[in-house]
Amino acid sequence: MKKISILLLLCLMVMSTLSCATNLQPTSKEVVDMSLVDQSMNPCENFFQYACGKWLTSNPVPADKSELYRFTEIDENTLLILKNILQTYQRGDNTPPQAESEKLGNAYSACLNADKNEISAKKAIAALLEKIHLLQNKKNLMPLLAGLHEKGINPFFALYSMQNPGDATHMIGTVDQSGMGLPEKAYYTEKENLKIRTLYLIHIQKSLFLTGIRTNDAFEQSKKIFQLESEIAKISLSAIEQQDPIKTYNPFGKIALQKLSPQMDWSIYFKTLHFDASDTLNIVSPLYFKRLSTLINKTNLADLKAYLDWEVIRETSNYSTLALQQEHFNFFGKTLNGKKEREPHWKTCVASVDKSLGEALGEAFIKVAFGQESKDMADTLVANVKSSLKEIITKLDWMDVETKTGALKKMQSLNQKIGFPKQFKTYNELAVTNDSWFLNQLASNVFHFNESIKKANQSVNRNEWGMTPPTDNAYYDPTMNEIVFPAGILQAPLFNVNSSVAANYGATGATIGHEMTHGFDDSGSQYDELGNLKNWWSEKSAQIYKEKAQCLIKQYNSYTTDEGTPLNGELSVSENIADLGGLKIALAAYNKTNSQGLDSDLKTFFIAYAQSWCGQLTKEAEHTQINSDTHSLPKFRVNGVVSNLPEFADVFQCTEDQAMVPKNRCSVW
Ligand SMILES: [Zn+2]
Repeated sequence: MKKISILLLLCLMVMSTLSCATNLQPTSKEVVDMSLVDQSMNPCENFFQYACGKWLTSNPVPADKSELYRFTEIDENTLLILKNILQTYQRGDNTPPQAESEKLGNAYSACLNADKNEISAKKAIAALLEKIHLLQNKKNLMPLLAGLHEKGINPFFALYSMQNPGDATHMIGTVDQSGMGLPEKAYYTEKENLKIRTLYLIHIQKSLFLTGIRTNDAFEQSKKIFQLESEIAKISLSAIEQQDPIKTYNPFGKIALQKLSPQMDWSIYFKTLHFDASDTLNIVSPLYFKRLSTLINKTNLADLKAYLDWEVIRETSNYSTLALQQEHFNFFGKTLNGKKEREPHWKTCVASVDKSLGEALGEAFIKVAFGQESKDMADTLVANVKSSLKEIITKLDWMDVETKTGALKKMQSLNQKIGFPKQFKTYNELAVTNDSWFLNQLASNVFHFNESIKKANQSVNRNEWGMTPPTDNAYYDPTMNEIVFPAGILQAPLFNVNSSVAANYGATGATIGHEMTHGFDDSGSQYDELGNLKNWWSEKSAQIYKEKAQCLIKQYNSYTTDEGTPLNGELSVSENIADLGGLKIALAAYNKTNSQGLDSDLKTFFIAYAQSWCGQLTKEAEHTQINSDTHSLPKFRVNGVVSNLPEFADVFQCTEDQAMVPKNRCSVW
């Protein structure tokens, strides 16, 4: 998903880790569960607490997680289905039939075999570090970086292909910033993150110590590494800047790139990777590379090598020796996300196979867990939500005729991918053994890296998916002008062919609406119907949109967590607008269905929406999400949205003095 460009995919939520349920078939739970409702709470005062109260009390965040949502049970059930499939393949039984069943079985077996991995990981890390230690001068830095980047270890920068924002029919090689261990540049500077920085420094030190390479001077080394990372942070774009498609689209020829960053030998870098850089490249942040070149020049070789050592250790620690895996968890799982213990290893292994061979595993998953009835119903939902959005846009009073024409043209070309790809990816070039998880991971990284860079300057394959079929998530991709709903998210309790129409519209209809609006919001406005970076909004309409967005920025800035931390309304504004638009469009689509004589139950509709977001996070994960994620916390994804809809207040007969009835309502769509 990242290499398709994480910047461009506007997902529904923080990437959920494919993260225990009791059966091996899809659950048949109802979308709305009235036993979860806290009847003692007034829905007009706190609708989230009303709809999810009983769920919240009986579902604390488990020790191995940093967050728990009601829909997490989908992940749990999916994991069990996938585990069952992988165990069958391990035994050599090709059921369900799958061409890559041997590779899938091997990948799972290697991951489960900790003893073998311990030996091979130690050997492989030593070999990677040895290459770094042999670096005699900075001249040879770029080929060394090429060798690391290919393996998915990305110190200083990263190379991949993305759809060309200037020509949506082709891909473009892209050079992007990379190489910070902490989630966002602000973690390196802001006062409130001082404690995290101190703990990060200790984490680096311990990890170096555990590799056994730098036992004597680990503390001194860790300080130097942290210093260099802080310098990288200073010159990096922030999370907000990274969302800006214009700022991050900078076509450069190889010669211009060389001039921009004279201390970095790009010719040898590309040559090492057999990458043809004769065509234009996208340099995500030219200023970053200009400054990086200076930074590399002024940093002494020993410090550069210490940083590279750390990058190898950090970026492989997920599948490394047991001690390094645990240390990685202690910092990233516990400190940053508040998890208390690691998830059972088999879950990590299923997620690891999903990452390496996702479409092969997904093809098997579809055969077990996604029927034609679900596909047909999801298609109908999408069609109805789409037609409601079209009507809403046609009637918008703030959008001028010129902009509406652009919007409707874009609506016409809006593509939808539901369930699973028409054609599944093949993995012929990827060798997978049952000997070493570490080496399998590196091989997988090399495979995916080469797949990505090979696409540079090639025609765009519009059949590709950015998520694997079992993934419990969804996205809108502006460069493809399409919404994508994998089979993984079209499962109970978010979606159930046997639940009421109102419930399915309130939960999944709202999500479909959410994703669709991204095509027409401030980020969508910058891409035309084919996905070219070409603004189709008039200045006047853009200005009014901005003013309307201000209303939501103000609204969400006024919310605080239970700990008293304010939300970042600016960082999350696009997602908050999509949440509000999504529910409004789903409501319009449901009402239309209803006028055609089907059931009418608006209370069920709203409760279904709220229950699709029943969830809670550890306070550490809340902190991380507020600072680095564009999505609001679950409580506000519910209360912030319903309080803006007068229909909600009508249905629940709320009065003007109540919390869910604000004086000024915000509205965009
Ligand atoms: Zn979104």
